Amino acid sequence: MVKNRGLPLQSLRLEALLRRLPEHHAKKDQIFQDLMKWQAGYRGERSVDYVLSEFVRTSSHYFALQDLRLQGERQRFFQMDTLLLSSQFGLILEVKNYQGTIHFDGNLQQFRRVHNGKQESFANPLLQVQRQQVQLDHWLHRHHFPPLPIIPFVVLSSPYTTIAPSVSQSGLPKSLLRAEALPQVLLELEQNSKHSWLSGGELAKLSSLLLHSHTPDSFSILKRYKLTNHDIRAGVHCPSCQELPMFRRLYSGIWECRHCSFTSNRAYVESLQDYSLLVNHTVTNGEARRFLGIECRKAMHYLLSQLKLKQEGNSRIRRYLLPPPHHVPRH
Ligand SMILES: [Zn+2]
Repeated sequence: MVKNRGLPLQSLRLEALLRRLPEHHAKKDQIFQDLMKWQAGYRGERSVDYVLSEFVRTSSHYFALQDLRLQGERQRFFQMDTLLLSSQFGLILEVKNYQGTIHFDGNLQQFRRVHNGKQESFANPLLQVQRQQVQLDHWLHRHHFPPLPIIPFVVLSSPYTTIAPSVSQSGLPKSLLRAEALPQVLLELEQNSKHSWLSGGELAKLSSLLLHSHTPDSFSILKRYKLTNHDIRAGVHCPSCQELPMFRRLYSGIWECRHCSFTSNRAYVESLQDYSLLVNHTVTNGEARRFLGIECRKAMHYLLSQLKLKQEGNSRIRRYLLPPPHHVPRH
């Protein structure tokens, strides 16, 4: 594996937003639903990662890159869940975790899902992954690589996705498959692709260039939901029960949660991570005080200096660089 999936940043952003919005905020339900959907998708990707890693481990001629975001034509970015590369071909996998029964109308190119009696139409994921293929073709051409055949697949990650009989009869699109079928499909592709487009060295060069061209998505979650700083609650949240604000004891400087009695002198560190996830990855003393609800400039200076953060600017407008959140995937 050359590039692992990494932190589920989007999930962390949504979680931070949920704990910091007031209890009855109008957007809270929608954000919670989005978080659930995102986490289900992430679980699906992880289960496909597992199937693939078993396969890739036993064959040395693959490079796997997960969650890769590249700049495409006209400054637009495109993102791939998983890209698997060999000297003979490249595979783009778009992982879908669908609950319920899937209906596919090949003529209309339309997908419909029926779950718990509810019908929902959605964008055809096959077209989505085909667009990624076209963009990757262009990318390879722009970087002077040979025209390695790129094959797009939509992978159904959930064993609970049912495919409607009407689909099975008319023949499932070849580029739609279940996760457990992946190893077999890969073996067949290997047997049918005799031509090597890239030498071992070129393949390594390609995967390293892809890795360096990866541009993480730095969009603002507040903008995405049309929210501003005024919508989010200030204060240090409790790392144990997520409630806020915690109260800081005057002399010891220890934070105490009045909901669950958790105490810690480092509780503010997670709240600074919330700032980084929701607002900006750099912070001034004043911004940190407003966000954490701390009045004393000196106290804030002490707390920030404890973290030995990198700094920018002069002593009047000093900005502290907040580190990316540490996170062990929980889902
Ligand atoms: Zn608590």
